[in-house]
Amino acid sequence: MNDMSARPRYDKQGERTDAERAAAATSTFVREVGRDAALYLESCIHCGNCAEACQFYLATGEAKYTPIWKLEPLKQAYKREVGPFSWIYRTLGLKHAVTAPQLEEWQELLYDSCTMCGRCTLACPMGIDIAGLVGLARKGMFKAGLAPAELVAVAERAEREGSPLGATPKVLRERLEWLSDEHDVPMRLDAPRADVLVTLSSIEIMKYPDALVATARILEQAGASWTITSAGYEATNFGMLSGNVDWQRKMTMKLIDAAIACSAKVVLLPECGHAYSALRWQGAEMLGKPLPFRVLHISEFLAENLASGKIKVRPLDKTVAFHDPCQVSRRGGATRAPREVLAALGMALLETEDSGDLSFCCGGGGGVIANSRADALRYGAFEIKMKQIDATGAELAVTSCANCRQTFDDGAAHFHWGREMGSLVELVADRLAARPAAGP
Ligand code: SF4
Ligand code: SF4
Repeated sequence: MNDMSARPRYDKQGERTDAERAAAATSTFVREVGRDAALYLESCIHCGNCAEACQFYLATGEAKYTPIWKLEPLKQAYKREVGPFSWIYRTLGLKHAVTAPQLEEWQELLYDSCTMCGRCTLACPMGIDIAGLVGLARKGMFKAGLAPAELVAVAERAEREGSPLGATPKVLRERLEWLSDEHDVPMRLDAPRADVLVTLSSIEIMKYPDALVATARILEQAGASWTITSAGYEATNFGMLSGNVDWQRKMTMKLIDAAIACSAKVVLLPECGHAYSALRWQGAEMLGKPLPFRVLHISEFLAENLASGKIKVRPLDKTVAFHDPCQVSRRGGATRAPREVLAALGMALLETEDSGDLSFCCGGGGGVIANSRADALRYGAFEIKMKQIDATGAELAVTSCANCRQTFDDGAAHFHWGREMGSLVELVADRLAARPAAGP
């Protein structure tokens, strides 16, 4: 009789045994854990505070969604293989080697139930950057062939076609021409030199094209020298979200090379949270030296140009709730910018119970929205946010991330929610003051 359990298990392609996949993950975990990550992994005092900060834990009440538990294989590999007491852990068998079945079990914890929102870090007395460590653990998961298939497919498409949603350079050109004709606004493409390189999110190109028109209108009113380039326009980075550093670098370098080629002083990032993280905080690491340009999220650009008077708007007498994209506000540091924009519009901001740096994620960040297996979990997380926005009683709800908008649209359809999440850049474009007529 065949003893199936005695045979090595192979991955779907039959290329690697379980032992080889576990070894690939372990060596990546160990290689990626630098001084900061090691300090974090040594500092947990097991207080459990992080659980109450995580909306996946709050929505389900399940202990396995406690943030620090999501890092167990990473911690196990570090402590057993390279930590200062690794020989004790190994000799006494206190930490076992990471196995492929264990990693398969953790796939859900690292990808489906973590948006890398960083809220847990605020609750942690030791300041452990759990979101950063989840990103690091995903690198090992990817090397083991254990990133979720749907997320990998999206990332592969982005690597192959330059866009996760099929917004190839040809599609981009056609859409920009159509938008320019339809809305009578210049959509500047492939200017050889420009001060501002405008980058886009595929979600906007394919689903929310009004955001592109709004951006162009605002740049024109600001009198900016700007361009979009077909060599580097896609700001989303599914290489980063999936855990594939090679794809992440390739996508980031396209933007950096495009900016250098047109001598841009500013790279303007669109309404996308993780795009900000990928270029603003990780771009220099990809280039190997400081970036030779400023990186601004569109909300920062709006705030700066409204303050300087280059953009002028008509006031809007409405109340508004703002949804902070985690990667721009809490993890990006640009929490004030959208509030300055809303103030410049004369709107009354009604903050949600947890707002600004404490804001809950929409539930779809970190690639979770691209992974349909996580839908039920995501809806649970979304419900927390939805109720908080309703509780403000605001007339409008606005955000500055197209991925959040997509998550809200999907959540609204699921819950038959009678609200629509609007876009900050579209709101500003709608309220642009008319330019003074040119003199005789
Ligand atoms: S980063 Fe956000 S989603 Fe991930 S474990 Fe922490 S609180 Fe939960
Ligand atoms: S809050 Fe920080 S110290 Fe406490 S269990 Fe979570 S990660 Fe560990």
